[in-house]
Amino acid sequence: MAIVLSGKEVAAKINQETKEKTDQLRQKNIIPRLQIIRVGERTDDVYYQKSLEKACEATGIDCSVKVLDEQIGQKGLEEQLTKAADDPLIHGILLFSPLPKGYDLAAAVSLIPVAKDVDCLNPLSSGAIFTGCGDAYPPCTAAAVMEMLKFYGAELEGRAVTIVGRSLVVGKPLAMLLLAQNATVTIAHSYSEDLPAICRRADVVIAAAGRAKMFRGNFFTPGQVAIDVGINDDPDNPGHICGDIEYETAEQIVAAISPVPGGVGSITSAILCAHVADACSKSSEQD
Ligand code: NAP
Repeated sequence: MAIVLSGKEVAAKINQETKEKTDQLRQKNIIPRLQIIRVGERTDDVYYQKSLEKACEATGIDCSVKVLDEQIGQKGLEEQLTKAADDPLIHGILLFSPLPKGYDLAAAVSLIPVAKDVDCLNPLSSGAIFTGCGDAYPPCTAAAVMEMLKFYGAELEGRAVTIVGRSLVVGKPLAMLLLAQNATVTIAHSYSEDLPAICRRADVVIAAAGRAKMFRGNFFTPGQVAIDVGINDDPDNPGHICGDIEYETAEQIVAAISPVPGGVGSITSAILCAHVADACSKSSEQD
């Protein structure tokens, strides 16, 4: 039976550190603040917003939400982003995406200053993560995977890590974070040939394809660490979520595995709060 890499304990540790930081800031009358901007009423966005509001409250961060009518248009959205960018009392900005049809996401996120870009939306932040130069926050999900590996003491230096998925939110930045830890990284995707063999060769397999239970027993070998980033509707259990890994099969083979739910996803909000607290702390040092 594999060790279960639960995200709850990881998130609790990060949240405790964040709370200590925000308590210190608040003692100096500095209030860490996140500005969420969302356009329209997508159910996913409203759900995500509520979970972030809870996470912020628990870690001493003020979270304000600007809900914009779908009709506001690109100019109206950009005005709000510029306002948040210029406001010294706002330390982190999060624009929910996808935006409704007709909006230019790239133009919008370019207005988020890197110092306030707590989920790496602006390509300038990605550039800093990819070059290793400058001070930017990596995407929260990629950072959540790294925190999970660190918390459970997974060795990365010199180890083979396969990531399945090459999105800008997960796969690509995660590869850079792993390289920075001297891992030997393979990025696989939908054109990769013999994916199970590529995964079997790795010491650590990170599943981020967004395909429910695609990673079956033939993807794994004994001794591996398996991290599941996927969040999918469970085809076998409607109304519930599942990961990319067929958990019941994989856990019989690998040494350690992260579950879904209760794995990487539980750490993501904690990372976002940590980024806001850090951004606030850095801005207060400059004052
Ligand atoms: P995405 O943008 O759809 O990217 C999926 C990646 O997986 C693509 O690179 C795609 O390859 C690859 N892929 C898809 N099907 C494949 C297959 N059959 N074989 C090999 N590779 C395949 O998704 P994402 O935003 O990166 O998210 C990935 C998963 O993580 C989703 O389930 C998402 O819900 C979840 N997620 C979780 C969190 C969290 O907090 N835990 C946060 C964000 C996302 P190509 O590039 O060739 O198309």
